[in-house]
Amino acid sequence: MSDRQQRHQRAMQKLKTHVDEKVAAATEQRGLILVFTGNGKGKTTAAWGTVTRALGYGYRVGVIQFIKGLWECGERERLIEDPNLEVHVMATGFTWETQNRASDTAACLEVWREAERLLADPEVYLVVLDEITYMLKFGYLDIDSVQRAIAERPPEQSVIVTGRNAHRALIDMADTVTEMNDVKHAFDAGIQARRGIDY
Ligand code: ATP
Ligand code: MG
Repeated sequence: MSDRQQRHQRAMQKLKTHVDEKVAAATEQRGLILVFTGNGKGKTTAAWGTVTRALGYGYRVGVIQFIKGLWECGERERLIEDPNLEVHVMATGFTWETQNRASDTAACLEVWREAERLLADPEVYLVVLDEITYMLKFGYLDIDSVQRAIAERPPEQSVIVTGRNAHRALIDMADTVTEMNDVKHAFDAGIQARRGIDY
């Protein structure tokens, strides 16, 4: 075996020992709180990817979309055929263009009631609160209610929160926090959002 091969083998052995130790140390089993935040693309995509993963094992999943944005959403159209998936979209057609404080707050609270029901249901394995960070930022929803509902959820249930500028309290209580970093985005180069890629 060459020096190079030997070095590689030693490095791999060391890595394996390290991973084995970590696997042995991870003994706790419970539902998780995940936050996908940051300015880069991929937060909602990652959430739907996890939804697909959970549905793949036959688990029940609830998704709340707090910002409708583009009404079209390819993943939802496909996955909605699964009887284990429940999706609620905020009713007003809230977009960045049509902000009306009174009607947006009412619509937000209406869909939040569905979120609270899902967060209290031990049969639901995963709940996604997509773009909820904006509801907190605009004050349509108060952080205490959100914190309480998430903290008091059934122990086997996992929750995903997505959106930019996640509230500090959500980051603190989360088990896994990923910040999507905006290195570059096609939109800034004048390229339109792409069907099947961006929505
Ligand atoms: P995606 O839904 O693609 O995973 P996201 O959830 O991370 O994106 P949002 O802030 O929710 O990002 O934005 C939704 C839409 O805006 C998507 O069409 C996405 O491609 C686009 N987008 C995301 N990040 C950026 C960015 N940095 N600049 C411009 N457009 C973006
Ligand atoms: Mg998003």
